[in-house]
Amino acid sequence: MRAEQRLDWFSRTAIDDDITLLVEPYVHELLRCNIWHVRGRERDLLVDTGVGVAVLSEAATDLFDASILAVATHAHMDHSGGMHEFEQRAIHSAEVAALATAQENMRLDVGSYDEATLVAIAHMGYDISGGLLTEIPHAGFDPATHELQATTATMVLDEGDVIDLGDRAFEVLHLPGHSPGSIGLYDAKSRLLFSGDAVYDGPLLDELDGSDVEHYVATMMRLMALDVEVVHGGHGSSMGPKRFREIVQQYLDLRGAA
Ligand SMILES: [Zn+2]
Repeated sequence: MRAEQRLDWFSRTAIDDDITLLVEPYVHELLRCNIWHVRGRERDLLVDTGVGVAVLSEAATDLFDASILAVATHAHMDHSGGMHEFEQRAIHSAEVAALATAQENMRLDVGSYDEATLVAIAHMGYDISGGLLTEIPHAGFDPATHELQATTATMVLDEGDVIDLGDRAFEVLHLPGHSPGSIGLYDAKSRLLFSGDAVYDGPLLDELDGSDVEHYVATMMRLMALDVEVVHGGHGSSMGPKRFREIVQQYLDLRGAA
C-alpha cells in the first residue's frame, strides 16, 4: 500500500463562489501548474490536474463533485499528470495520442537530463539545479522512478465544442503553438478565459518539442481580439484584460508579427 500523502501537497485559494485554484507548492515553478476547479449546477469542471505525484481527487473530496469532468488544456506532464484519476477525461483531438502514451514528456529527476536540455531550460529563465520537487508527496516516493501515468480520453474536444456545466458553459478554443492541441476554455457570458499555456504571466514556451511559432502567432492574434474580463492561465497569476493584451502583444513583438 502506498504511504499516506502529505495533506498540504495541494494548496487552495477560493477565487469566487464557484472557482477554486489548487496548486502544488512543492513542485518547481517550471512545472507548477494552476489547477482550476469550477463548480457547476449539474457538473463540476476541472481544468488541468497537476504533475500526478499525489492523488488530487483524494486531496479534494470535499470539493469535487461525483460528475466532475477533468479537462487537460494539453498533454504536458504538469497539466495531465492526474488525469488518470478521473472517470471523465477530456483533451483536444490533437493530443489524445500523447495522453494515451504518456511518452515524450518531462521527467522529474533532473539527474536524467542531458546538458542541452538543462541549458535550454536555463535559457527559458528557470534554474532547476536544485531539483523539480522541494518535498516528496509521500514517504518512499522517488522522482527517479516516477512515471507519468498514461490514460485514454473519454471525451475528445475540438474547436467550438461546448462544455455545459448547467448554469454556465465553456467554449473550446483551439490555441495551438505551445503544443499542437493546446486549448482554452471561454465563458462568453462572464468573459472568463482559462488560457492554459497559450497565455500566462511568465515566460511563454514556444520552442519545446511539438511547439510551433507560426501557429502560436496566429493564436495570439486571435486572442488579441477576444473579449475578456478575467483570464486564468496555466501558470502564474490571473490577469485582467490589460495585462493579458500586454503579454499577447509582447509575444507578437518578439516573434516579429503584427
Ligand atoms: Zn505546457
